Amino acid sequence: MIKTKNKKDKWIKLICGASNEDVISIEDLCAIYTAAGVDYIDVAAEESIVNAAKKGIKWAKESFKNSPGIMISISDGDDIHFRKAKFDPLKCPSNCPRPCEKVCPTFAIDNSGIKESKCYGCGRCINSCPLNLINEYKYNLSKNDLASTLQKIKPDAVEIHTEINRIDSFTKVVNTLKSSKTKLDRISVSCGLNQSVRKSQEPEDLLKALWERYKILNELNIPLIWQLDGRPMSGDLSPTTSRDTVNLFERIGSDLPPGLIQLAGGTNEKTHEFLKSTNLPDGIAFGSSARKIMQPLIEFAHKNNKRLYDYPERMALAIKKAKKFLEPWKMS
Ligand code: SF4
Ligand code: SF4
Repeated sequence: MIKTKNKKDKWIKLICGASNEDVISIEDLCAIYTAAGVDYIDVAAEESIVNAAKKGIKWAKESFKNSPGIMISISDGDDIHFRKAKFDPLKCPSNCPRPCEKVCPTFAIDNSGIKESKCYGCGRCINSCPLNLINEYKYNLSKNDLASTLQKIKPDAVEIHTEINRIDSFTKVVNTLKSSKTKLDRISVSCGLNQSVRKSQEPEDLLKALWERYKILNELNIPLIWQLDGRPMSGDLSPTTSRDTVNLFERIGSDLPPGLIQLAGGTNEKTHEFLKSTNLPDGIAFGSSARKIMQPLIEFAHKNNKRLYDYPERMALAIKKAKKFLEPWKMS
């Protein structure tokens, strides 16, 4: 099994979001969490997004001596990580208290609807509308085929979002990775239990699916990460959301194929508390929960047409918050 770099320092990944194209926020987020010590940053497979992430990392690297790898998110089929939300504001009653606007972690919603570039498809607003006016739609930022995307971006790592029954399309993606000859430090496989399929899926089904993928990936001789996606894109940021992720890990974590075990999907500031200190995963990935605590600071800077790091005091506050957020994982 791949070990993390230091016994007291768990592997931590920042998820910017497979449909997140808000390059200004991404640059700031990457600067903040690089300074706070993440190991990898997961972004959409699109050149402009990767460049924004690199700029943020570069800003922090000099002062904080950390240089996280860039991981791009791809999928072997339809996937809720690759979506956005929309509604027609003309259909909204004028007296609506606008719960959708209040729950959006990226402030993507105003009177004119949802600003596409700021929406990363978390789904929080969808269930908040009493009139069910908000719908999701598929959105894949990468306009090129996978081989040319890899050649252009040259990521350090790739994350393949897959589903239990998609072994054939997973194999195709791996074959493309192989033929592209991209030099990767790691491959992450992200999978959870799909709640929307007719026949309910059990943790044992997931385990079997991951071992099938291991057999395909093993010959590449690239370190693997198994990302247990407990509640992918549920839109629920409540502290207890992470229980599903923790339960999944406790059920199958010790039987997973060789590689680093990392939790995602519903992970937040409470996840560490819910885990037994004698049975922790190798790593953790934070998406919405990590972004949400920074968004007010980032918005302030952007309203003034600046990056957050143009305001040293506010940037220092953001880094302090990020370090506190990551602290249990740094010290466990
Ligand atoms: S709540 Fe989530 S899905 Fe809705 S607009 Fe905001 S980012 Fe998009
Ligand atoms: S909650 Fe629904 S009705 Fe109200 S503003 Fe949002 S989309 Fe419109």
